[in-house]
Amino acid sequence: MPEADDRRPLGVFGGTFDPLHFGHLRLAEEACERLQLAAVRWIPAGQPALRGSPRVSAAQRLAMVRLATADNARFTVDCAEAAVSQASYTVPTLERLRRPEVCGAQRPLVLLLGADAFLRLPEWHRWQSLFALAHIAVAHRPGSSLAERSLPPALGDACRERFSTDAAQLSDAPAGRVVPFAMTPLAISATQVRALLAAGESVRYLLPDALIAYIRAHHLYTEH
Ligand code: ATP
Repeated sequence: MPEADDRRPLGVFGGTFDPLHFGHLRLAEEACERLQLAAVRWIPAGQPALRGSPRVSAAQRLAMVRLATADNARFTVDCAEAAVSQASYTVPTLERLRRPEVCGAQRPLVLLLGADAFLRLPEWHRWQSLFALAHIAVAHRPGSSLAERSLPPALGDACRERFSTDAAQLSDAPAGRVVPFAMTPLAISATQVRALLAAGESVRYLLPDALIAYIRAHHLYTEH
């Protein structure tokens, strides 16, 4: 089916993926299952706006995302952010996806975030515009509480009426809901993977073997 004709919810998963690990893959896979998404579109950031420069190039992070997702028919990779050198922002990316020749105005889009990223939403460029462009699904992540008292006040105010535990509501409108979901808790981070690699320690079972082979072949993450 041409993408613009598909009306089923599409997951949108941005990140630095420096490098991608099993926490990312399980988040996307479990989001497909729990939220009845037709697919997840992975969008590696070129230059992320809220953090220092990634340790490896956008081209290499994109290559790793392609490698890790190639055998999953529900995953696609969007290289638009990785292809440009300026800072990556989510609102312009969603506006691009809303164009008629991409997803159009009516298809439900579901921005996938881990709880840590969700808690920092008020720091994002034009963050209040997100709610008109997409739903937000927030995956539980060890170390980041989604309890109301943990939310920055502006985020709590913006989301109070939008929260839902009913994933079926994601199909009822193109945008506007905030749906937390529990995924298998995996306390894996790219920071931890980079530190282990720099220390020369094993990263097996934290990320796919194909990525470990890619990292070794390109001598990535060898220094702190
Ligand atoms: P870093 O340690 O470099 O900050 P990271 O592991 O958090 O990286 P990102 O590429 O920054 O990875 O994350 C992309 C998205 O995936 C974010 O929304 C983040 O919250 C989510 N995410 C990453 N790891 C996990 C995890 N283990 N469980 C749940 N969500 C995760």
